[in-house]
Order: sequence, then C-alpha cells, then structure tokens
Amino acid sequence: MNKHPKQEKTFVMVKPDGVVRGLIGDIIQRIEQRGLKIIALKMEWASHEKIDGHYPKDEKWITRLGEKTASTYEKYGYDLEKELGTADLKKIGQMVRGWLLDFMSQGPVVKIVVEGVHAVDMARKICGATLPSMADMGTIRGDYSVDSPALANFEKRAIYNLVHASETPEEATHEISYWFDKKDVRSYDRRDFDFVI
Ligand code: ADP
Repeated sequence: MNKHPKQEKTFVMVKPDGVVRGLIGDIIQRIEQRGLKIIALKMEWASHEKIDGHYPKDEKWITRLGEKTASTYEKYGYDLEKELGTADLKKIGQMVRGWLLDFMSQGPVVKIVVEGVHAVDMARKICGATLPSMADMGTIRGDYSVDSPALANFEKRAIYNLVHASETPEEATHEISYWFDKKDVRSYDRRDFDFVI
C-alpha cells in the first residue's frame, strides 16, 4: 500500500563546507519554512569508508559524474584532457568520486531525515542544481556558492556545494537506513500544519 503523501521521506546532509561556514541553521530553516518536517538529525564526523558506502559505485553513476564534468568543460572552453590528463569519462568520474570522498570526510556533516509532501523533489528544489553556476537564486546552492568544476578540478577536489539531498524515493530509503537506526526516525505532528495545509 502506498504511504500517505505527507509521509514521504528524504535524506539531506549538510556537507562539511556548509557546517564550517555556519550555514546549518539557514539550511534547516529553508526546509522547515516550506512545510517539511525534520524528523531525525545528527552531526557526524564520517570516515572515508562511511562516505564510500554512501555514494553509488556503479558504472552508470560514475560515468555520469564524468559526463557532467565534460559538459561544463565544453561550455566554458576548458580542455578536458589537458586539465585532467584523460578524456575517458569513467576515469574522470572515478577521479571526481575520490575527491568527493576526501571532501566529505574532511569535516563534520549534519545528517537529516525530512518528511512531507513530495519531500524528495522539494528537498532537491530547495538545494538547487548540482553546479552552483546553474543553481537558481533562492536555492541554497544558488544563494551561497560560486564554485565550479573548472576551479574545483583545477584544484583536484570536489565542488563545494553545501548540501546533499537524495535524488529518488528509492535512494532516500537506502540512505536513511544507511545513516540512521530505525528507532531514531520517528514522526510527530507539526501543529502549524492545522492552519497552513
Ligand atoms: P548532486 O549532489 O546534485 O546529486 P551528483 O550526484 O551528480 O550531484 O554529484 C555528487 C557530488 O559530487 C556533487 O554534489 C558535487 O559535490 C560533486 N561533483 C559532481 N560533479 C563534479 C565535478 N565535475 N567536479 C567536482 N565535483 C563534482
């Protein structure tokens, strides 16, 4: 049986750049003010291995990371092979994934379970597009970041884009159970919902 629409859950994480820039409160506020509920929350200094288990390892996902990099390089006129030493999209994806693991384990993250109507899509919308130059104003990434693959890859690191949010309900289910014990994810009523929705 399908769950009630208000019970859709997603997983959001404030990345280390969001934490050290003092943006935890702002990010949580943007989620709550949309009428989404925070139903679990914890800060964690995750190990490299823990982050490795969080991000997919399949070829499709890794190649997609490479494709994203290639298309930004093309858009801004950078030479992929010259900058990264290869034009192989899978190799580039693997390289970016490695930088991402280093970045995500270099400082604390805040892991959050969010519940509400279309929680997965709403959280992605609040975060904004992956690449800050493409993220709309009014989104977390659009308002607070200016980073780009052109700079990040030049410096051999992942893009600093403040937040992670699950892309699909299936990914959300997997990520929530990866980061939280079942007993720590419990819903409650938000009384303002009696008046807002
Ligand atoms: P999202 O986080 O929006 O779901 P992806 O799943 O495609 O985006 O990528 C995961 C993370 O990897 C991004 O949030 C970003 O931090 C980093 N990343 C993606 N593409 C690149 C790239 N070309 N260079 C450096 N880091 C990247």
